[in-house]
Amino acid sequence: MADKEGELMQKIVSLCKRRGFVFQSSEIYGGLRSLYDYGPLGVEMKRNIRNLWWRDMVHCRRDVVGIDASIIMSPKVWEASGHVAGFHDPLVDCKNCKNRFRLDHAPKDEAGKPVCPDCGSHDLSAPRQFNLMFKTNLGPVEDSGHAVYLRPETAQAMFVDFVNVQQTYRLKLPFGIAQQGRSFRNEIVVEHFTYRSCEFEQMEMEFFVKPGEDEKWYEYWKNFRLNWYSKYGVKAENLHLRPHEKDELSHYAKACSDVEYKFPWGFAELEGIANRTDYDLNKHAEASGKDLRYFDPDTQEKFYPYVIEPAAGVDRTFLAMLVDAYAEEEVKGENRVVLKLNPEIAPIKVAVLPLVRKENMPEKAQEIVETFWAEGVNAFYDEKQSIGRRYRRQDEAGTPFCLTIDGDTMKDNTVTIRFRDSMEQERIPAGEAVDIVKKALRATKAV
Ligand code: ATP
Repeated sequence: MADKEGELMQKIVSLCKRRGFVFQSSEIYGGLRSLYDYGPLGVEMKRNIRNLWWRDMVHCRRDVVGIDASIIMSPKVWEASGHVAGFHDPLVDCKNCKNRFRLDHAPKDEAGKPVCPDCGSHDLSAPRQFNLMFKTNLGPVEDSGHAVYLRPETAQAMFVDFVNVQQTYRLKLPFGIAQQGRSFRNEIVVEHFTYRSCEFEQMEMEFFVKPGEDEKWYEYWKNFRLNWYSKYGVKAENLHLRPHEKDELSHYAKACSDVEYKFPWGFAELEGIANRTDYDLNKHAEASGKDLRYFDPDTQEKFYPYVIEPAAGVDRTFLAMLVDAYAEEEVKGENRVVLKLNPEIAPIKVAVLPLVRKENMPEKAQEIVETFWAEGVNAFYDEKQSIGRRYRRQDEAGTPFCLTIDGDTMKDNTVTIRFRDSMEQERIPAGEAVDIVKKALRATKAV
């Protein structure tokens, strides 16, 4: 990473810590490699990302339903899916500088030979396979008969529960089953802050279609998912779809494209959209001995549907949105750090600020903050420090609106509304504030 880009990441990491977006896990004990805790602002923003995905992928569609499966599943699931045998990263050691890295991520020299990403040496060990699944035991006995895994992806539950969901909901093709939740991978090479961690959240959907209609739906979901990110404010020029090369495709996939974001270190994956064919249902049918075919009431035929899977990560979306929103501006000779987050993504929607802590201003501000809470809008009350500093704190938190309660409010019931991006201020009746904020929140709702 070039210095300038490294510097930007440093600024993001330090903003995350300073303002309570993300902390290192178990920091007082020296931290734990590649595990993170989301603080008060981070947890709100992450929740917003999840909820917006759910709204657009499940609530606003007649053809998708959700599930919430257990993290620990039968180990047979992972045998059938190929994860036990094949969920491996090829690792190599650099004999020169002792760096350990993934062979498939290593830079290549002019002759196409891999070199160490740190020192450029060609002196590398032979690749060794490393299984990424975390193993634990179910019950008190620690033997292989009780070994289970923490799921490395949420997707398999949608295949395993396919018949239950389809039959109880009487779903007809095409339809999708969606799930969000934690996944775990014992990643060897952890990098770029929360981009690659060992415990992360996924948002995945398996969309079951008739064979023959898969290519059409693959195109549909690729475009839908790419547009989803720009809909919530990620700049279109920083996003693209990258189709996988033939040799990069998983053995089960007919086609796959990644939505990639231009992170400070280069374009990297936010989400993969794959045409998984009928591979997974077939494998689980074979391993479980159960008939997992779909019965088509129109043709009276039974067959295995094809599957299009958009598989996204909450943490990577979170990081991309932070990087994309981060701006530094010079205001009256001072540096202002501001997160220009989409209002729906922003952790706090509005800050309500009494100008001073007297003349009943705090009480009035409290009254106003409660009108937001009653409407389900996450509003924040702050009376500490000067008004200028409070505005700056909210800029750094990405809060789109600040309302200031001053002497005039007490006389004519008007407040000052300050807009984060333009820093413009307007005087409005206090009673209109909720509507103005809610209108901004509704602005992105149309799909
Ligand atoms: P990569 O090639 O970067 O390891 P992947 O192709 O293995 O990713 P998928 O298995 O397609 O990832 O998982 C779907 C999504 O889950 C990814 O696009 C990403 O957003 C998220 N994800 C996967 N692994 C991690 C991780 N270790 N940390 C954070 N998010 C992850």
